[in-house]
Amino acid sequence: MINQEYKAMIGKKSVIRELAEYATRRSEEIGRENVFDYTIGNPSVPVPQAFTDKLVELATSHDPVAVHGYSPSLGITSVREKIAASLRRRFGLEYRKEHIFMTSGAAGAVAHALRAVTVPGDEVITFAPYFPEYNPYVNKTGAVLKIVPPDTETFQINFEEFEKMFSSKVMAVLINTPNNPSGITYSTETIKKLAAFLEDREREYGHDIYLISDEPYREIVFKGVDAPYVAGFYHNSITCYSFSKSLSLPGERIGYVAVNPACRDAKLIVEMCGQISRGIGHNCPPSIIQLAVAEVADLTADLSVYETNMNILYHELTGLGFSCVKPGGTFYMFPKAPEEDAVAFCKRALKYDLILVPADSFGCPGYFRMAYCMSTEKVRRSLPAFRKLAAEYRQIRERSGQA
Ligand code: PLP
Repeated sequence: MINQEYKAMIGKKSVIRELAEYATRRSEEIGRENVFDYTIGNPSVPVPQAFTDKLVELATSHDPVAVHGYSPSLGITSVREKIAASLRRRFGLEYRKEHIFMTSGAAGAVAHALRAVTVPGDEVITFAPYFPEYNPYVNKTGAVLKIVPPDTETFQINFEEFEKMFSSKVMAVLINTPNNPSGITYSTETIKKLAAFLEDREREYGHDIYLISDEPYREIVFKGVDAPYVAGFYHNSITCYSFSKSLSLPGERIGYVAVNPACRDAKLIVEMCGQISRGIGHNCPPSIIQLAVAEVADLTADLSVYETNMNILYHELTGLGFSCVKPGGTFYMFPKAPEEDAVAFCKRALKYDLILVPADSFGCPGYFRMAYCMSTEKVRRSLPAFRKLAAEYRQIRERSGQA
């Protein structure tokens, strides 16, 4: 018999993907330039030239077996060494190649980290608003995902609710900063408080509790924003990184797990990742892509457009009366919908060819997410549509005497 659980998931596709598909259909009708598609986090800035040059050089003038052959199961040794050296330089932790495992993006990294530190029945806690894919990422390991309700004033961690939900069954805490969908970064104060809390609980329960830090947006941090390197604060931490957003390479499926050298079983966890791969049929990312990213591990694409877009949208939307916590990074923002039902709001927005994502599936009903990884010219052209939408809500309020 076919697996009924996966069959049931077909009917519950990601709302982001469904709206993105709608945007594609609508583009065929009225032209892509006329559809303001704020749905999917597909980076829009070009890949750094240094990456492309390296890729061409590898493909044309290196030993085909080295470039196109199987990678060792933990990743190519020289690549792991270069990534460890880059992390040492940038964050001051004593990473060596033994702490690095190459993965297919952050998704692959989180899949391995979760399996390395939980068994079926364990609990994993995350914080709303959260990336909806955490549901399948965690639940399909057999562990149980628990979601702490949001602190909608700041979108930092809601410690009061977190402490209430915490029990000896929690083996891992999964965080994402800079955050998709809120765009905020967890402050040094938040990370310190989280680390102190987990250390206390480790002592109380007498077992390790891992902090899995999902960081695909680590390099997209705006000027002057406090965005600490999480692993610097907690020994049992596993960093899940991706080059998808920093180098604009989501289709190349490349990232890594970096286990904190101070973690009790650091080297063992990395070795175990190779075995987890065997179990889930994950093979290391393509050798040529590993070799190319290793050369540009300290670089990013020109990410400045995201901050420009954020400032334009934040200014415009708050001016129109939307309430929104100002993003500190990523290419997302997360305003409150002007009516309780964000699904209804996003439906109304479609009238103006504004495609926005209701945040119910991010654990934060009443809000919506905008992925503004598009040209600034397009962001500017979308502003009249937001004005028309806001005007419609003003009329609704006036008619109902709420203005
Ligand atoms: N985690 C978060 C928070 C994300 O936003 C994404 C992708 O958008 C991922 C993980 C998966 O990233 P990757 O494409 O590197 O697998």
